[in-house]
Amino acid sequence: MTTTASYEQLKLLKQFIDESKTIIFYGGAGTSTESGIPDYRSKHGVWTAMTRDGFDPVKYANPQFIKKYPEKFFAKNEERDNRPVPEPNATHKILANWEQSGKDVRIITQNVDGLHQKAGHRYVLELHGHHRLWHCMSCQREYLSEEVKRDEDNIPRCFVCEGIVRPNVVYFGENASKDTVGKARRSMKAADLLIIAGTSLTTPLAKRLIYDFEGDKIVVINLNEVNISPLKADLFIQDWVGEVMTTLSEMN
Ligand SMILES: [Zn+2]
Repeated sequence: MTTTASYEQLKLLKQFIDESKTIIFYGGAGTSTESGIPDYRSKHGVWTAMTRDGFDPVKYANPQFIKKYPEKFFAKNEERDNRPVPEPNATHKILANWEQSGKDVRIITQNVDGLHQKAGHRYVLELHGHHRLWHCMSCQREYLSEEVKRDEDNIPRCFVCEGIVRPNVVYFGENASKDTVGKARRSMKAADLLIIAGTSLTTPLAKRLIYDFEGDKIVVINLNEVNISPLKADLFIQDWVGEVMTTLSEMN
């Protein structure tokens, strides 16, 4: 991993941060790759691998598929569950430090890994849900992830009605929670700096949300260029998010 961000770019980013009262950090998969969580759409992404194996992620990661082929769905999930438990990386920790030092730093994330909270961040909006809670698809009863019990086919089952129990994650064909989206929109309007990091903003919701931003400065940190037209980035840093955040935190 090499840093391509120039000193001038980082200095400017630091200046934007210092001058801002309310910062939105809008993060995608690229903020968690350094925690060992593969992203979705890149060359080594989860969905890219699935497509190679003959699975269409849009068909697979949706509630109809879970109901029809729960053994297939949860077998795939089991592969993920067998990886080491991911820990917050430099990005999560540095952002949480800023918040703890009194800065109003609001996270809006597309990730479902809960790593910002694990790093101690309090203001986190999870657009695509999370794995901390699961629910029964038949009777809606909620379960903590550690309470979930699987049957002999490895399918998580409700112990009240034996329905299929699934994570509170927003899959394809499902909508983000109205409450979360409402809070995200209000935060966008309240912020003066928007940092878009580790995402290409491919979902319609992501695109719609950033148009609510009415503040001064927009910064994009990503390995590839991100189209935010008709908005314009005041600063584009083409780099790994973790590298930028680490170098930034070491600057005086
Ligand atoms: Zn149930």
